Amino acid sequence: MDATRTPQIDYSACLGADPGAPVRGGATRRQVLQFCAGVAATMGLSSAAGVRMAEAAMAPARPPVIWLHGQECTGCTESLLRATHPTVESLILDTISLDYHDTLCVGAGQQALDYKHAMMAKHKGAYVLVTEGGTPMKDGGIYCKVGGRTQVELVREAAEGAAAVIAIGSCASWGGIQSADPNPTGAVGTHAVIPGKLVISVPGCPPSPYNFLSTLLYLLTFKRPPELDELNRPKFAYGRLIHDNCERRAHFDAGRFALEFGDQGHRQGFCLYKLGCKGPETYANCPAIGFGDVGFGSWPVGTGHPCYGCTEQATAFRKPIYALATVKTLLPPTAYPQVGTQEGSGVSPGAAAVLGAVGGLAVGAGAMLLKQMGSAKQDGSDTPNKED
Ligand code: SF4
Repeated sequence: MDATRTPQIDYSACLGADPGAPVRGGATRRQVLQFCAGVAATMGLSSAAGVRMAEAAMAPARPPVIWLHGQECTGCTESLLRATHPTVESLILDTISLDYHDTLCVGAGQQALDYKHAMMAKHKGAYVLVTEGGTPMKDGGIYCKVGGRTQVELVREAAEGAAAVIAIGSCASWGGIQSADPNPTGAVGTHAVIPGKLVISVPGCPPSPYNFLSTLLYLLTFKRPPELDELNRPKFAYGRLIHDNCERRAHFDAGRFALEFGDQGHRQGFCLYKLGCKGPETYANCPAIGFGDVGFGSWPVGTGHPCYGCTEQATAFRKPIYALATVKTLLPPTAYPQVGTQEGSGVSPGAAAVLGAVGGLAVGAGAMLLKQMGSAKQDGSDTPNKED
């Protein structure tokens, strides 16, 4: 066999006799397969893994899920339900058996709580626990109660019989906005409530529905979590800095920045670093997969607002929104002429090349600078930040 050839994948079993037949929430077998193939590609997995995910998503037996809410705005659930791409929310809600959800359940009061307990007993050791929202630990946890019991008790009780625990959103992952200084209720993420139990964190405010669904599909298919980072975030979604995938990155490297909302640079789509963009210190895949599922560019930076670092505990709700980010991989190109800088006030090309080499920019950005400075001198322009 030719080792350089990709093995043929037999899709026929997964597609079935009628690929156009609805199978999950109105989605056809073909759509589910296409979606799962996309999920696999996003996670860096093979097409064969996508087929296995599709089979797991369409399996008759659906894994039971218990979904608890703590201190939060319900925005994570809202984000899932507002997904518009073919039936993402249907895939989520139909792929799993959402046996209990604090805010979506039809029943109320004691009736709802009794049902939750019945489902937890029935599926003990087999259900997935999803936590949404932070958990207040101060003063015995009295600042968040459901049915007269603290969130601390409820999370610990539900986690005991769970096969896996997923914390969705920044509040459940690390405390979120209510944990901002001075953290009056002692809010923490789920992992701090049940130490010793693995909690897969999918932070974001709200997180992308795709990251949650991809994590869930991986868990259901392979019966283990996807590869996680040191904060137990799936690496496929949180393995790279936003700054490294941003569509405005070329502007950063070339020294083209928006300095005020609505200025010339902002209108031309320049880099938002100087408006406080936290992309350089935030790990997430927002620029790659979009956000809110309404098409390309549908994420904060894509719409002209700086990223505020919602996936990072040390950034969101702690650093002022318009404060400069800590650039983790490269120094900001302060050596470059800025918007409005008069010709001749920048550094020399030689000095810039040295700085570029130190920052790892010598080949790409250094060349851009030399080209930019050269063209500015040739055409006599006094706006060295104009597009080449
Ligand atoms: Fe994009 Fe922000 Fe980085 Fe600029 S600073 S390239 S806008 S992530």
